[in-house]
Amino acid sequence: MKELKKFSAVRSFSHIYVEEEVKDHPLTLEILSKFPKAVKIQINHYKEVFCRPKQNFAVQEMSKKLILAAKKGRVIYSGPEVCQDFGNKNFYYTSPALNCIYSCDYCYLKGMYPSANLVIFVNIEDYFKEVENLLKQRPVYLSLSYDTDLLAMERIVPLVSRWIAYVRGKEDLTIEIRTKSANYSALSHLPPAGNVILAWTLSPSEVIERYERKTPPLELRLENIKRAIDDGWKVRLCFDPVLYFENWHLFYDNLITRTFSVVSPEKINDASIGVFRIPRDYLKRMRKTFPFSEIIYYPYVEKDGIYTYPEKIKEEIIGYVHLLLRRYLPPEKIFII
Ligand code: SF4
Repeated sequence: MKELKKFSAVRSFSHIYVEEEVKDHPLTLEILSKFPKAVKIQINHYKEVFCRPKQNFAVQEMSKKLILAAKKGRVIYSGPEVCQDFGNKNFYYTSPALNCIYSCDYCYLKGMYPSANLVIFVNIEDYFKEVENLLKQRPVYLSLSYDTDLLAMERIVPLVSRWIAYVRGKEDLTIEIRTKSANYSALSHLPPAGNVILAWTLSPSEVIERYERKTPPLELRLENIKRAIDDGWKVRLCFDPVLYFENWHLFYDNLITRTFSVVSPEKINDASIGVFRIPRDYLKRMRKTFPFSEIIYYPYVEKDGIYTYPEKIKEEIIGYVHLLLRRYLPPEKIFII
């Protein structure tokens, strides 16, 4: 739990709500064993707690609670337009957890959910069943750590390891596990799997210190990336979201120079660039809840229900970061969102 304790709100899991239906599930028991002092409260359905009216996301962030539940109905969805498919035709995503142990200022989850509490769906077997059904129809590219950071939570609940064990040897299935964590050691005992992509989001140290305060520093993330590559894992670098602020050119230049002084470019699977973007309704909600956030109050422009930087700025950002990456990577390895 060392990394979790240092960079997360895990210590605030003073209360754990458990759906009656999953109270004896092996993953529930495993999670509960990690928090012997937490108050356990039995509930019928996670929405009783998670979707209560009049919750304040900002206040709850100071003391997140944990909710263990079973996800019902559909659990795998078609990938949304605002996300990069990395050239994969059958792009899907899933959310084995709702919310994140980190709390980046710009995170759309703050506008998406009514609660800052963390929900973990322990019925992983139902996720596997749905993937199994999809695989009968077509190959699947699945983004796994969506609406959360699963690897950051691996020592609370080993979902990433379970998924890796599940996908191993399935040639038609590729999964991406996106993270800002420095928790590679939770996976380092596993042999690498060719159809698993570990995708690290990288930001300049100035951005991490200002807007991603609970996440590990850049140097730790780079150290983890290097270890994963050296062990033979496929690694993706995600420069997403790139933020626009004073001297951003300089900070992203430093970031990319530093990144490739630690990791060999030829060992990188691929990289992505995306500017900050957020659905209209989420931004509206975030502006109400976080009235003093400079990043949330930037005068973004709306296009097709998505707020982002004005086109000129967006082009400037993408063009510049692309140029920086081209010093190290061939064009076919750089994906732009
Ligand atoms: S790590 Fe990702 S999911 Fe977690 S708070 Fe930050 S932006 Fe949101």
